[in-house]
Amino acid sequence: MWYELPHVRVRHSRGTRAAVTILLAWLTAASAVHAQTPATLDIYWIDVEGGAATLVVTPQRESVLMDAGWPRPDFRDTERIQAAMQDAGISEIDYLLISHFHRDHVGGVPQLAERVPIGHIIDHGNSVEQGDEAGLALWRDYAMVADGRRRTVAPGDKLPLRRIEFSFIAAHRRLVDSPERRAPNRRCGDATAPSIDEGENSHSLGYLLSLGGFQFLNMGDLTPDREYALACPENRLGVVDLWQVPHHGGYGAIRPELAGALEPTVAVVNNGPRKGGAADSLKSVQDTAGVGDVWQSHRALADDSAPHNTDERMTANLTEEEDCEGHWIKATVQADGRSWTMTNGRTGYSRNYQSK
Ligand SMILES: [Zn+2]
Ligand SMILES: [Zn+2]
Repeated sequence: MWYELPHVRVRHSRGTRAAVTILLAWLTAASAVHAQTPATLDIYWIDVEGGAATLVVTPQRESVLMDAGWPRPDFRDTERIQAAMQDAGISEIDYLLISHFHRDHVGGVPQLAERVPIGHIIDHGNSVEQGDEAGLALWRDYAMVADGRRRTVAPGDKLPLRRIEFSFIAAHRRLVDSPERRAPNRRCGDATAPSIDEGENSHSLGYLLSLGGFQFLNMGDLTPDREYALACPENRLGVVDLWQVPHHGGYGAIRPELAGALEPTVAVVNNGPRKGGAADSLKSVQDTAGVGDVWQSHRALADDSAPHNTDERMTANLTEEEDCEGHWIKATVQADGRSWTMTNGRTGYSRNYQSK
């Protein structure tokens, strides 16, 4: 970590002792802060009620936030992001990634920018949904914040984080293709390719983060045709430890050819009480061989989802949106990447996992 030293005048002898005292006091305080700072990689799934905001804070306290929730003049989603930032001990976002230009992902950017210092802003390219009024308004609100400092990435691009490999696997419908990760996928044989979707979801950013042996895959709202292309005829992504399922686990969001091939020890569904977490997707995540524990941001409250909700201990929020306190799910990854802990922000309940 690079600390800025405070201005202390040491040139004049009269002030020297006081200056040294101040400097020593400051250094002691700084090292105390440093000692308390956990050298872990922390990942927060912030409850923005069926939108997305996933915060990654590295052991060096570098930060990457993908998505900012809904446009909320009451700053609900910004405040929930700030609560996670406070828990992580950070006060600014180094990299703000916008997965794609839908309300539940980019809508909260103007409010976030009003309250939180943001370094770089990264996206998949221009919105492809500027043709309708709502899509154009979202794009313009984003451009007001991002113009002059946005950067567009392509699959294979990496963020320059220390000790973490942070690599984009999808952007603007294009997909990563690195020979070293390719693996045969026996699940593709009988599968039928899904229909092509060319909207914003299919243009979503996706990334793969590695720390030692630990790997986290976040797919934004990528569509079934993109999942299928990543999984078949060969799996391009290898296996991962932790997987944020695409599109909040909405209807039809899970392609078992991909879910099974990834073999995630933990799958996270960032659903709201009535958005995402569709019965068929929850069932698919629960039933696919190779997928381990499922953690959900919310209990899905639609009746047909009820039988497929995960264990309540691994569910961060149980109520309707109006009564919701917006608890997070957190992954705490040891600095060597060998193991990690999932924690329910509502209860403190946690489970430990070993990386593959
Ligand atoms: Zn979404
Ligand atoms: Zn909630």
